Amino acid sequence: MVRTQGTHHIFLLGLISWTSSAGHCHLYNNRYVGEKVIRIFPKSDKEADELRNVYHQLQVDLWQPSSISHVMKDTVSDVHTSINSSHALLSYLTKMKIKHRILVNNVQKMLDSQEFRPRRKRRSLKKYNYEEYHPLNEIESWMFFMNKTYSDLVYIFSVGKSYEGRQLFVLKLGKDTQSYKKAIWIDCGIHAREWIGPAFCQWFVKEAVSSYKKDPAMRKILNLLDIYVMPVFNVDGYHFSWHSDRFWRKTRSKHRGCHCHGVDANRNWKVHWSDEGASLNPCDNNYCGPFPESEPEVKAVAQFLYRQRKHIRAYLSFHAYAQMILYPYSYQYNAIPNLSCVELAANNAVLAIRSAYGTRYKHGPASTTLYLTSGSSMDWAYSKGIPYSYAFELRDTGHYGFLLPESLIRPTCTETMLAVKNITMHILKKCH
Ligand SMILES: [Zn+2]
Repeated sequence: MVRTQGTHHIFLLGLISWTSSAGHCHLYNNRYVGEKVIRIFPKSDKEADELRNVYHQLQVDLWQPSSISHVMKDTVSDVHTSINSSHALLSYLTKMKIKHRILVNNVQKMLDSQEFRPRRKRRSLKKYNYEEYHPLNEIESWMFFMNKTYSDLVYIFSVGKSYEGRQLFVLKLGKDTQSYKKAIWIDCGIHAREWIGPAFCQWFVKEAVSSYKKDPAMRKILNLLDIYVMPVFNVDGYHFSWHSDRFWRKTRSKHRGCHCHGVDANRNWKVHWSDEGASLNPCDNNYCGPFPESEPEVKAVAQFLYRQRKHIRAYLSFHAYAQMILYPYSYQYNAIPNLSCVELAANNAVLAIRSAYGTRYKHGPASTTLYLTSGSSMDWAYSKGIPYSYAFELRDTGHYGFLLPESLIRPTCTETMLAVKNITMHILKKCH
């Protein structure tokens, strides 16, 4: 989906901005009124290429960009538009006879409907509701609570500070067995608006610690492995997506000589930085930053992973939406050296997901399955010798997009949990 960038600059601070008019409450200060999400079906590479220019001119927000060379494989692009850009885009599509469908006619109306409104009943941490989206302060309190409650299995630490000075907290799960342990890294919320990510990270921790005693597989995993879980990678952006702009994606850094905020934290890693699939324009949503690791969040996590690279056997990063399990490379079409092992684990993970509710995931190298991107965390982790590196694109395939209702947190997390357990068990076995 695509939306104009201009609206990003008008924002209010404070808890989710509500305005009241004629007895109705509007979230986020009613800023998305009349905005649309349009799904576009380009039927050739040429058409997709021309569309890309149109998107750029109209400064729409691409929720799901279509790839150049794989258009024929049923790829679509979802575009979030302002009122003005939607008029221009729709008339262009009609004139050029390009197939399209309006997915959301009024984004504000969708946000304001009961289904998408986060339930905001505050409960004690003992009754923490994993089927709700939580703002950053609640997630942080929950992390400390988990550390206190399961002190033999959960350790909390910070890898550094964000641009706005927030701590970058990570939970380390695992039984302290004194012996050398391999490790797995899991992060969620690199992109702020993908709220299902942080919800999954919390679900994972809850499942891991609560099933340790009764589930022999989980006991084995936590006895033999350390699992690092970072529920919210892009803390500043996530906070901003709660309070000011639900569709914010980037970090919140400010760079000299530019009025636009933020860098795409998944284009900022020191691996083919600023190549294909990343923008050098600070106002673009896939802006790769002024230099690699310019974002303190990326630098802090990269330093931690680098120091721990000999222990870490798998890097898992959670995104939305597309229903895919992706592995390297993102930046090129060549196959990775250990393709058969990585592909086998991905294939089994996809089958595990399907076994729960029949949800269908695609899997494969990111470059050919989704699109070419450079400077991604997944490619970086792989380049540093972490043999299993995956990016998950969780539910759905565009019906709700980033506004996945809370009622779908449980099924999404349940099936994803099976996939992650599956990959973890694979890592404990030998694969050559
Ligand atoms: Zn993402």
